Amino acid sequence: MLIGNYKILIKQLSRIIPEERLLHDDLNTLAFGADASFYRLIPKVVVKVHNEDEARFVIMTCNNLKIPLTVRGAGTSLSGQGITDSVLMIIVSSEWRHYTINDDASTVNLQPGLIGGKVNQFLQPYRKKIGPDPASINSAQIGGIVANNASGMSSGIMNNSYHTLAGLRIIFSDGTILDTRDPESRRNFLASQKEFINRLLSIRRNVLNRPEWVEKIKRKYRLKNTTGYGLNALIDFEDPIDIIEHLMVGSEGTLAFMSEISFRTVDDFPQKATSLIIFPDIETACGAITKLRSCKVNAAELMDRASLRAVENKPLMPAYLKELNPAATALLVETRAADRKSLERQIQEIKDALSDVPKVRPVEFTTDAREITALWSVRKGLFPSVCAERKKGTTVVIEDIAVPVENLA
Ligand SMILES: Cc1cc2nc3c(=O)[nH]c(=O)nc-3n(C[C@H](O)[C@H](O)[C@H](O)COP(=O)(O)OP(=O)(O)OC[C@H]3O[C@@H](n4cnc5c(N)ncnc54)[C@H](O)[C@@H]3O)c2cc1C
Repeated sequence: MLIGNYKILIKQLSRIIPEERLLHDDLNTLAFGADASFYRLIPKVVVKVHNEDEARFVIMTCNNLKIPLTVRGAGTSLSGQGITDSVLMIIVSSEWRHYTINDDASTVNLQPGLIGGKVNQFLQPYRKKIGPDPASINSAQIGGIVANNASGMSSGIMNNSYHTLAGLRIIFSDGTILDTRDPESRRNFLASQKEFINRLLSIRRNVLNRPEWVEKIKRKYRLKNTTGYGLNALIDFEDPIDIIEHLMVGSEGTLAFMSEISFRTVDDFPQKATSLIIFPDIETACGAITKLRSCKVNAAELMDRASLRAVENKPLMPAYLKELNPAATALLVETRAADRKSLERQIQEIKDALSDVPKVRPVEFTTDAREITALWSVRKGLFPSVCAERKKGTTVVIEDIAVPVENLA
C-alpha cells in the first residue's frame, strides 16, 4: 500500500505517464525487485519512461518530493546498483533507440536504451565498434554501460567509456539540462550554475594541492578501477564541464541521468585469430601473460579448471578439455589485424613469446569465424555457467580485482 509522499507522487506522475507504465501493485513491484545481482529490494513504484521529457518530469517530481530515484537500464548489473526500495525508473529499450553516425564513423551519438551489441551491428559496415565490450554487451544498454564504466575482454582501460566518451546530454535532479557537445549549453551551464562550478573546482584544487593524493589517483587509475566515482576526472581535466562529463562515467546513476551519449568509435579489425592455450597450472598461465605484453594481443582471458569444466560440454568445445588434469589453466587469446599478412606475423610473435613457457598442448590459432564465436561466447557465458554449477545454498563472488600484471602470478 502506498503512503504519504508516494501517493502524491503517483498522482503527479499520472499527469503525463499512462497508467500501464506507472506500476505499484504487489506483483509488478516484486518482479522488478531483482536485477542480475544477488540482491533484492522491492520498489514502491516502477515507472517506465519512453523519452527525455518523461524522464525529466519523473526526475524533477521525485526531487521536489524528496523521494529517492534509481534508474534501471537492462538490469544486468551484478552489484545491486539497479535496485531500490523507492522509485525505479526503467529506460524502455524499444523506445530509446535513436542513433546517428557521423560521416567517417569516427563518432556515434546514441540514446541510452540502445543495446551495446546492436550499436556494434550498426557500426560493422564501417569496420568500427564502440570501445567498451562487457561480456553482457548483447543485453546491456548504452546508459548502463557508461554509468557502470563497463569494460570487457578487449577494451581494457584504454577503450573503456571514460576514454572513448565524446559527449553527454545530462539531466540533473532539478531538471537542468547540460549538453556537453553544445558550446551554448556549456556556456549557459557555467553562467547559471556558478556555485556548483565553484564547489567542483574547489574539490579539484583540494586534490591538486596534495601531491600524495594526485599520485594515488594516478596509480589507482592506471589499473582497471571502477570503484567509487571516477576521481581521475579531477586531475585529467581542467574545464569543469569536462570534469562533470567524465565524473558521470561510473557514477551508477547517482549524479544525474544521461539522455544521450556520444562515443568515439574504435577500429574493428577484419582479420582475427583466437587460441585456447592450455598451461599446466595457474601460475604458469599468469606468468605467460607477462610475456604476451610485448605482442599484439587484443584480449587475453584466463579460465581455471573449474571454469573449463563448466563449459566443456558446450558445442564446438575441443574434446581434450575433459581430459585435462585438475590444475590445468587456459588462456583464451585473440589477436586482430587489418590484413592477413599482419595477422600471421602477430600469431608467430605470440608463439615465439611463449616458446619457452611450459604448455599442455602446442599453441594453435583458429581463424574460423564460427569457432572464434563459439570460444568467445563460452567465455561470455562463463559467469552464468559457473553460477549454474555451484552447490545449492552457496553464492558466487562476482567482484573483480585488479593487480599490476607483473604481480599477477
Ligand atoms: C553475464 C554477465 C556478464 C557481465 N560482464 C561484464 C563485463 O565483462 N564487464 C563489465 O564491466 N560488466 C559486466 N557485467 C555487468 C553489467 O552487465 C554491465 O556493467 C552493464 O554495462 C550494465 O548495463 P545495464 O544496461 O544492464 O545497466 P543496469 O544494470 O540497468 O544499470 C547499471 C547502472 O547504470 C545506471 N544507469 C542506467 N542507465 C542510466 C542512464 N541513462 N543514466 C544514468 N544512469 C544510468 C543504473 O542506475 C545503474 O546504477 C556483466 C553482467 C552479466 C550478467
